Amino acid sequence: MIYRFLATEQGMYDVIVIGSGPAGMTAALYAARSDLKTLLIERGAPGGQMNNTAEIENYPGFNSIIGPDLAYKMYEPLARFGVENVYGDVVEVINQGAIKVVKTEDAIYETKALIIATGAVHRHLNVLGEAEYAGRGVSYCAVCDGAFFREKELIVVGGGDSAVEEAIYLTRFASKVTIVHRRDELRAQKIIQERAFKNEKIAFIWDSVVDEIYGNDKVVTGVKIKNVKTNEMTDVPAGGVFIYVGLDPITKPFEALEITDNAGWIVTDNEMKTAVSGIFAVGDVRAKDLRQITTAVGEGGIAGYQVYKYLQ
Ligand code: FAD
Ligand code: NAP
Repeated sequence: MIYRFLATEQGMYDVIVIGSGPAGMTAALYAARSDLKTLLIERGAPGGQMNNTAEIENYPGFNSIIGPDLAYKMYEPLARFGVENVYGDVVEVINQGAIKVVKTEDAIYETKALIIATGAVHRHLNVLGEAEYAGRGVSYCAVCDGAFFREKELIVVGGGDSAVEEAIYLTRFASKVTIVHRRDELRAQKIIQERAFKNEKIAFIWDSVVDEIYGNDKVVTGVKIKNVKTNEMTDVPAGGVFIYVGLDPITKPFEALEITDNAGWIVTDNEMKTAVSGIFAVGDVRAKDLRQITTAVGEGGIAGYQVYKYLQ
């Protein structure tokens, strides 16, 4: 059954924010503090990717803070400023000019302006065994699953911040963590790289990709690794495989708006405005270089303010 929340019932929203990661929560905070009637729609737990992060060391004001703790600190003040929260998975947005219609799986909302803050989702490797052993040794979240791999030898795939930082985290549990990277140089920030190089539990296999993940029908027991320079194949025994090969934007509900680039990231100007008047985008879902909590928060503030100006 679909419930309609229209202007005559719930009251027309000034702004709806989709996604309550750091970008969406900040946008909602700024909009509500400008006295705009603000609705925040989230399909999971408030906090977004912060909920999957063990320790955050690069958010100003904290030496180090646990991801879900920072998520809660951002979420807590929202109600005080009048942000309405609702659980919902947004499946479609229809642009009717001055009014935008937002459809979740079981409700329809109307708003004068919209801020998209849906973030991005981890990419798959698409190799043999990955889907078969998902949840049985193949994981995309060290914080969620790391503790299940005590004293195991693990493979981490990727060379970015996520792969290297999560490999370091996994050494708390694993006996050995091997990072498999397709080049001979990491992409991760230097400070994170140096920590990994110093960690005695971490080994590297360079210029290589995982070609297959295999197991004993119950759990993962190893991977086949291919050297991309020599094409040589090697079997490496492993109790688990953590995959961190980048992100894809969550933009399917907005396809009809035609606001993305060819890779699916939403294009905005410096004021977070998309090509559609009254629709803004912030955070990881944007086409940009630096995907961080600080940038997400900054863009959320800009969009919250720009929405106010737009409605004026
Ligand atoms: P997200 O945090 O991804 O939030 C998006 C929200 O939108 C989610 O809650 C999602 O459920 C919701 N959503 C998506 N689609 C829908 C829909 N259709 N309907 C309703 N809701 C929807 N950055 C740092 O600065 N420091 C770090 O230490 C750090 N560590 C990281 C570790 C890992 C493993 C990863 C993956 C990222 C890390 N990052 C870190 C990056 C940082 O987490 C992101 O840049 C940041 O969370 C982006 O914020 P966001 O609000 O744009 O998106
Ligand atoms: P990323 O930066 O895009 O890195 C993806 C890595 O996977 C790259 O090393 C890439 O190799 C490799 N890769 C991509 N496709 C592959 C494939 N098919 N097979 C094998 N390897 C493949 O993604 P991320 O590390 O998940 O980071 C996402 C964003 O979150 C970034 O903006 C990052 O800065 C941010 N983040 C920040 C922190 C922090 O600040 N502490 C922590 C985590 C994440 P190449 O290098 O060869 O391209």
